[in-house]
Amino acid sequence: MNIFNQTLQTSERILSDLYLTFREERKALITFLFHGLFKNQDEIRQNWVHPQQGITVAQFRQFIEYYQEHNYHFVSPEDIVKGLEPQKNYVLITFDDGYYNNVLALPVLEECRVPAVFFITANNVKYYKAFWWDVLYRERTKSGVSPEKQNEEKRILKKKTHREIEAYLVDAFGKDYFKPLNDVDRPFTPGELKEFSAHPYVHIGNHTCDHAILTNYTRDGIREQISAAQKIIEEMTAIVPQSIAYPNGNYSEEIGEISRQVGLKLGITTSPRKNYLPLNLEGNHSMRLQRFILWGNGSIIKQCRLYRSDVREFLHSLRMSR
Ligand SMILES: [Zn+2]
Repeated sequence: MNIFNQTLQTSERILSDLYLTFREERKALITFLFHGLFKNQDEIRQNWVHPQQGITVAQFRQFIEYYQEHNYHFVSPEDIVKGLEPQKNYVLITFDDGYYNNVLALPVLEECRVPAVFFITANNVKYYKAFWWDVLYRERTKSGVSPEKQNEEKRILKKKTHREIEAYLVDAFGKDYFKPLNDVDRPFTPGELKEFSAHPYVHIGNHTCDHAILTNYTRDGIREQISAAQKIIEEMTAIVPQSIAYPNGNYSEEIGEISRQVGLKLGITTSPRKNYLPLNLEGNHSMRLQRFILWGNGSIIKQCRLYRSDVREFLHSLRMSR
């Protein structure tokens, strides 16, 4: 993170404290994105996977407890589709990718009695393949490549289709590059996913077949990635997903339209904003819900306060009116 961003975040946090001291936040659905969960800090330091946000189970619990203390109701995608009462505040918990380590969330969900939606990359589960960004991180870190160089390589790969990325990784690390290492980096197996998906607090969503960054695909390619994932997930779990999280958050109106044609009712991006109530779920509005990301290397409570306040939206409206 650069200095400008740090300063901006600090000032946003000060503003959010002031905001919440003097007024109540506007009623909204706040959505949060998680990827892998770590048992503890030690597990993050092993470098088995890209640390992503580096969220531990304890931090995950802290986040849920914060919003429960402030009277937020935790909902599933199905609850949202049915309609939310506009006089309450809501949280939707989402996990992307399909990491096996997401089972660590279950005791917390049970203890707090809250649902979550898990967006599954269908082929990684079906074929038991590690996620490409983890392989890249692990191998490049081992050979001493700097984080900046790694980010640059990843940025270039994110402009490609999954076939192009796979060809690149086979070339760099051999055809067995995708073999998972352990319970930290591996996806669910189909059997585990079936069992997991039957849990009453678990909801299953679509994250495409191959973690396809859909803006890199043709119209037919987009449709194939979304509809084949629906089928594979149904075969594995007997559940037909109602919601999709677009890999890397890459969204277009065409992607929203195709998702609806495939039968999906809700789509979630990574645009970091609140979703104010009442929600407009007409047409493509339902396909671009916004969501925040929490970071394990900062105070969870401060981030929760910032996202609870309307400071981000206030600052955004100032920028728009200039
Ligand atoms: Zn993802």
